Amino acid sequence: MTEKTKQKNGMRTGAIVHNQFEMAADLMELEPYQRKLLTSPFRSMTVEVPVRMDDGSFDIFKGYRVQHSGARGPCKGGIRFHPLADESEVLGLATTMTWKTALMDIPFGGAKGGVQVDPRKLSERELEQLSRVFINRIALILGPYRDIPAPDVNTNAQVMAWMLDEYSKRVGYSPAAVTGKPVSLGGSLGREEATAQGCAYVIENYGRDFGVPVKDGRVVIQGFGNVGAHLARLLHEQGAKILAVTDVDGGLYNENGLDIPRLFPHGYLERQPVQDFDGGDKITNDAIWKIPCDWLIPAALGGVITREKNADTLNCKVVVEAANSPTTPTADKILFDRDIDVIPDFLANAGGVTVSYFEWTQNLQQHPWSFQKVNDELRIKMDRAYNTVKDIVEKRNVQWRTAALAISIKRVAEAEKLRGH
Ligand code: NAD
Repeated sequence: MTEKTKQKNGMRTGAIVHNQFEMAADLMELEPYQRKLLTSPFRSMTVEVPVRMDDGSFDIFKGYRVQHSGARGPCKGGIRFHPLADESEVLGLATTMTWKTALMDIPFGGAKGGVQVDPRKLSERELEQLSRVFINRIALILGPYRDIPAPDVNTNAQVMAWMLDEYSKRVGYSPAAVTGKPVSLGGSLGREEATAQGCAYVIENYGRDFGVPVKDGRVVIQGFGNVGAHLARLLHEQGAKILAVTDVDGGLYNENGLDIPRLFPHGYLERQPVQDFDGGDKITNDAIWKIPCDWLIPAALGGVITREKNADTLNCKVVVEAANSPTTPTADKILFDRDIDVIPDFLANAGGVTVSYFEWTQNLQQHPWSFQKVNDELRIKMDRAYNTVKDIVEKRNVQWRTAALAISIKRVAEAEKLRGH
């Protein structure tokens, strides 16, 4: 990836997360050594990932695993396969995981992994080999009490199963080493839709408290993968109108609401482009930012709401960051001035890591939970985190992100201090 291509993609996740931390650290008057400790990674590993391609040649991909902090527990974070994955992005995402696990008050730190690859260009066999070689190369720093991977963009339960198998070859049966596994391999019921379910709980709470009802609410979602598609399904079940969704190939719009029960199997289960569905008008990816709506939900990639592109013209009541780092700091400021609340990623999408935590505890205890118990416990955790943040927002009149960051940074800084750092 050239510098030029990276610049064309706008502000990147690493820079966004760093900038947000600096702003919160200023407000909290963090000591200089604490700033340094909390911005640099605890450990960072870069590896070569050689894969024998189907035509017999070798391709070598770059892989990263960054452990941002383990002060509050084992490092925890997903692995993404994406052409734009690099060390800075992975560090930014690992840092967000630290704030997320701290905000949810679960006993984990933050980590993230990435391989710079376009998985759409790989066959199933090549994808499996990539997954196995990558996990082998970073296995030294993994483990149920050290660092526990999970799915993220372009990785799923099958990829986690290959990774678990590869890791288990080295150390024996260790289901708690990876979360987001298939249920038949020790995965948790409810993990597949957990990120969306947690986000739906946050939306329900905010809608009730701030007069933006979910029932008949107008929703626009960027991304129709694990998070976007399940969220569309859950909000539709609650009576919301999903006006538009997009995937990497383009979007679909219907002013009366898309037929989500039919679109879900088409776009998510069968992985067909949403534009090939017959129930709406084709729109470009950029057009979704102009649609008048109540809830605007980026659920794809980072850096998509920016000062230059769309922050001045978004036509929504609330932005819910289901994706990681979709809003740049300058766009955040514009939205604050425009009185549009932004529910930050590390609250809005924390349901995934929370149910990953449930999965880890179920694996360690060898005692599976029911679907109902998973969702009941998830609701308790999401409601508690939401209310803690809301209290600060209301008392101090600050942005949701600032309030949430203040809570997380304080918890992590305190853990570091108690450990003598
Ligand atoms: P996914 O790979 O399942 O789906 C991603 C979706 O985004 C796909 O529909 C893809 O077509 C679409 N997309 C990709 N590029 C796009 C573009 N340029 N424009 C429009 N759409 C585009 O990934 P996911 O697991 O749903 O993750 C989505 C976001 O949520 C990411 O930011 C991820 O870090 C975050 N997240 C995921 C989880 C999880 O449990 N899966 C947890 C927390 C946060």
